[in-house]
Amino acid sequence: MMFGLMQDRPLLISSLLDHAEQYHSATEIVSRTCEGPLVRETWSSLAVRARKIAQALIRLGVKPGDRVATLAWNTHRHLELYFAVSGMGAVLHTVNPRLYPEQIGYIVNHSEAKVLCFDIPQAGLVADLLPELGHVQTLIALTDAAHLPDLPGCLAYETLLGAEDGAYDWPVFDERTASSLCYTSGTTGNPKGVLYSHRSTVLHSLIACQSDGLQLSSRDSTLLVVPMFHVNAWGVPYASALCGAKLVLPGPKLDGASLWDLATTEGCTFSLGVPTVWLGFLAHMDQTPGLDATALKLRRIVVGGSAAPRAIIERMRDMGIFVIHAWGMSETSPLGTIGNLLPKHDALPVSEQVDVQVKQGRAIWGVSLRLVDDDGAVLPQDGSVSGNLQVRGPWVTSGYYRAEGGPAVDAEGWFTTGDVARIDSDGYVQITDRAKDVIKSGGEWISSIDLENAAVAFPGVAEAAVIGLPHPKWQERPLLVLVRKPGADPDPADVLEFLSHRVAKWWLPDAVEFVDELPHTATGKIQKTKLRDQFRDYVLPDHH
Ligand code: ADP
Repeated sequence: MMFGLMQDRPLLISSLLDHAEQYHSATEIVSRTCEGPLVRETWSSLAVRARKIAQALIRLGVKPGDRVATLAWNTHRHLELYFAVSGMGAVLHTVNPRLYPEQIGYIVNHSEAKVLCFDIPQAGLVADLLPELGHVQTLIALTDAAHLPDLPGCLAYETLLGAEDGAYDWPVFDERTASSLCYTSGTTGNPKGVLYSHRSTVLHSLIACQSDGLQLSSRDSTLLVVPMFHVNAWGVPYASALCGAKLVLPGPKLDGASLWDLATTEGCTFSLGVPTVWLGFLAHMDQTPGLDATALKLRRIVVGGSAAPRAIIERMRDMGIFVIHAWGMSETSPLGTIGNLLPKHDALPVSEQVDVQVKQGRAIWGVSLRLVDDDGAVLPQDGSVSGNLQVRGPWVTSGYYRAEGGPAVDAEGWFTTGDVARIDSDGYVQITDRAKDVIKSGGEWISSIDLENAAVAFPGVAEAAVIGLPHPKWQERPLLVLVRKPGADPDPADVLEFLSHRVAKWWLPDAVEFVDELPHTATGKIQKTKLRDQFRDYVLPDHH
């Protein structure tokens, strides 16, 4: 073996910001703030502010490897912390403010964060939690002196930043150094920390900027809807620096009207979010008379986190917006598969192209996928069978923070995702369920995702969830739970008739129920566990 003679420069997050500062200095970062107004920065001014906040953190005693936690929405200040904390060699620990307070307390204690940075709307939550946060020494409110909440010892971000000169060089260190930490809600037990590295983050950013990735480039104005506490906003803050894209950060306002306003006024071409967000966006368009759809410059949106319903893909297509359906998880940074079309699909009629788009896409370079049965035997990838999806790659976790939950991968490095999927002969992955949500009827599996996607295509249905309920003969049978669109009153019989043309007969739900609202997780997914609890005593009609 002979080593090559190329320079072994470490892949560091600071290099992304340096590049954006030098080559895309005038490109804007527009942010809705928690105080209300929009703030306009550029990659150049943001880089200076990031250096200043790094200086301030060092002055406050933050050392390489220390955890700096954030409880914050998507704002320019949060973005500055992304680069400052990781850039100086510390670990940015993003915490989801929508979690239950006890979970937030657990997570911040588990990471032993020394500093907690928070948005002003979280001040009450922080005040309540503070007595239990044993490791936190410094509180920083992400605001200026005028808006500083009344918390003992709390510092104002802008005051700290204003005291520094920005004369700071990002240190150079091993690219495998930890950069950020994100806890997953965890399918079982306590939340578990996924610890990303500089190397994994930079490699992952390159994929986002590929043509067959998310196609992110300096021509994009990105509306970053996916929260920066949800798997590093799917890696897009870093990738945007790498390619010099404009970033538009919606702050705490994620409702349809606010997103519409930002997207149209800032000329956004690209956006990302979970399906629920897009349902809200489309509902706003439907409910606003006289809205000028041509004002929207969006051309691509990434939908992930849960399955993108066909109805969203089609509606967006009608407006000239291509839905890039992507699959991933906290443990995969998150990009695992990305749903672009292949040249052979170009000639297909639209409905058949949409058939491809409803699948979750193909593995990107760097990500290896395989399907195994419950005994671990490897299954074929020809679309014929579904199995447990396993993944391996340089931005896939090798183990949880502080070894929580025991080993995360097998001896060959495969991580079991907990998702059940099929992979067709072109490599397109179709997630049929989370292993724990699969409905087992008469020894066969019914995909709750397929049923839900079919149900939301029915006019008058705003949202749908399918859960399996015990059945004396079939073991489990599906119950369809629907939320009506405002002013609509769909007839259950019509919904079932509609579904009967879209799914196998034996998949048809045994009953349909309506609720005002479905329970959602902190990341906007339907909370099946809670829904199953809600319908625990429900008795399905006996018509089999
Ligand atoms: P959690 O939801 O547990 O907090 P993640 O955000 O990491 O954690 O969620 C990852 C999970 O979300 C995946 O394992 C998968 O079940 C689901 N998921 C993500 N993207 C998709 C998609 N495009 N289609 C269906 N399910 C998806």
